[in-house]
Amino acid sequence: MSEEVGPTNLETNPDSPQPKGTQSQDTNDAIDRDIFCQTCGYNLRGLTSNRCPECGSSFEHIRGGDPEIPWMYRRRLGWFRAYWKTVFFVMFKQARFADEMARPVSFKESQSFRWVTVFMAFVPVTILAIGGGVAAKVVDPSIASGWGIPTTLGLSVAGMVGLFLVFAGSTGVPSYFYHPKEVSILQQNRAIALSYYACGPMALLGIPAAILVTGIVIGFDNTIGGISILLGLTLPLGLLAAWWLDLIHLSRRLLPQRPGRAVGIAILVPMLWCFVTGLSLFAIPALVISAIVISRSLA
Ligand SMILES: [Zn+2]
Repeated sequence: MSEEVGPTNLETNPDSPQPKGTQSQDTNDAIDRDIFCQTCGYNLRGLTSNRCPECGSSFEHIRGGDPEIPWMYRRRLGWFRAYWKTVFFVMFKQARFADEMARPVSFKESQSFRWVTVFMAFVPVTILAIGGGVAAKVVDPSIASGWGIPTTLGLSVAGMVGLFLVFAGSTGVPSYFYHPKEVSILQQNRAIALSYYACGPMALLGIPAAILVTGIVIGFDNTIGGISILLGLTLPLGLLAAWWLDLIHLSRRLLPQRPGRAVGIAILVPMLWCFVTGLSLFAIPALVISAIVISRSLA
């Protein structure tokens, strides 16, 4: 690798990485923190160039040390503005969001963002589910007429607890994949924190839920009702897809040398989401209901 490669050679073969020691644009201050090449994972601390000495990729876009996640600036921006700016940053600026792997990220702040997001998803969906149930009962009093108040209340509470567990669990499980032993503790901590931020798109879940309930109230036999139901059921998949893509981007930045991991995450995370949902909405309530039925029949 001692042979110098001039710019002409690079132009004729743009895919070939620049070998070690060919930086000429040493015009920046030396990098004073641990930031890592997003192509090969090399630690860039101390470098003055904008090219990775290991693989030749440009890292100009991650050189700036200030984090870009608006949630970190909520004291200045205001809580509400910082929150929604972060949701849109995570959803629509996915490459820049993944660049945050190069900068400091607080785990504690990522947790506060995650729980606000769980709240943002849980509250409107619960209100709409209860409102939809009450509206359906008003329209057709024969619905669930034999249940009685204790059963109705019990099922509602079980549904709410189950729904909360769905959001709490599904926002937590992806983090298991973001602390591989191959990378430093510092990188693991950043990746774990960012994996929590990735759930941001779920904050918008109330919108398709409202569209779905509106469609159900209008009725399946009406065109607008049918379209609303269809939209209400498919838009959440779009939100999930944005979250899922963020997780894949993060994995590729965390371990660029092992692209297979991103494929594994792309398959395993949706399976875990289904598992958490099934467990929270069906298995746990079914166990609770069975326990109640058994204790009543014994009494
Ligand atoms: Zn590199």
